[in-house]
Amino acid sequence: MVTVMDYNVKEKSQWCPGCGNFAIVGALKGALAELQIPQHQAVIVSGIGCSSKLPHYVNTYGFESLHGRGLPVASGIKLANNRLTVIDVGGDGDGYGIGSGHFLHIMRRNYDLTYIVHDNQIYGLTTGQASPTSQLGMKTKTTPYGVVETPFNPISTAINGGATFVARAFAGDITHMKDLFKQAVAHRGFALVDVFQPCVTFNKLNTYDFFTKRVYKLEAEGHDPADRMKALEKAYEQAASNYERLPIGVFFREERPTYEDTLPQIKENALVEHSLKELDISAAYDD
Ligand code: SF4
Repeated sequence: MVTVMDYNVKEKSQWCPGCGNFAIVGALKGALAELQIPQHQAVIVSGIGCSSKLPHYVNTYGFESLHGRGLPVASGIKLANNRLTVIDVGGDGDGYGIGSGHFLHIMRRNYDLTYIVHDNQIYGLTTGQASPTSQLGMKTKTTPYGVVETPFNPISTAINGGATFVARAFAGDITHMKDLFKQAVAHRGFALVDVFQPCVTFNKLNTYDFFTKRVYKLEAEGHDPADRMKALEKAYEQAASNYERLPIGVFFREERPTYEDTLPQIKENALVEHSLKELDISAAYDD
């Protein structure tokens, strides 16, 4: 019987009091416990940033990699041992900025991974620069006259890019977020959960109050996640409504073979369980 307590660690968090990251780590531990995933069968990978400290705060295997490189490390771990539950976490700057190339290509391959993005619309660790998802007009250290670039849309990009589960959560609603994490981890294929995560120190625009007034649940309005065109329409609602209506919940879901499903070498046994001879790659060394 796995409980939330099993995922607790002794390390003290380095996050600012009130940061949305606390709710995310709590919801993730709750989801893993409710899915009864033992610590030794879970790996949490990250890039660099405030959110990327998360693997330190959950008692599973963990790997804090390089800036924007969490997804390639996570996919490598999944290929080496496809029996593991592999979760990648990171921020909007990490995943949608420097790591955007990995994001596009790993989701189109449909690896069986969960990707949780702590989307606080700013670079927090480096003390408040505009990120790819910063709202138009927002003043930051790097945009003293306001952001002029069209914000990156992770939801529409993921739906168009081949992700097979696309959802958004709000860190101010931990029960709903935990349920989305459970669905994402249980889904076979690439699952994105983008989380509205207030950065209480450097983002004074997108606050808990800002989101609480604007978010609504897709399921409450009868949204059908199997309808790709409707999902795209919902993905553009944030910009179309000028941030007045912010849908959260599951936008899109489909079943498609995973990348691992296409590899006969790991159909019966994980790669780590094979000898080099079994894999018949020794010939490559003979040449
Ligand atoms: Fe959280 Fe922002 Fe503090 Fe980073 S800087 S820990 S994102 S509140």
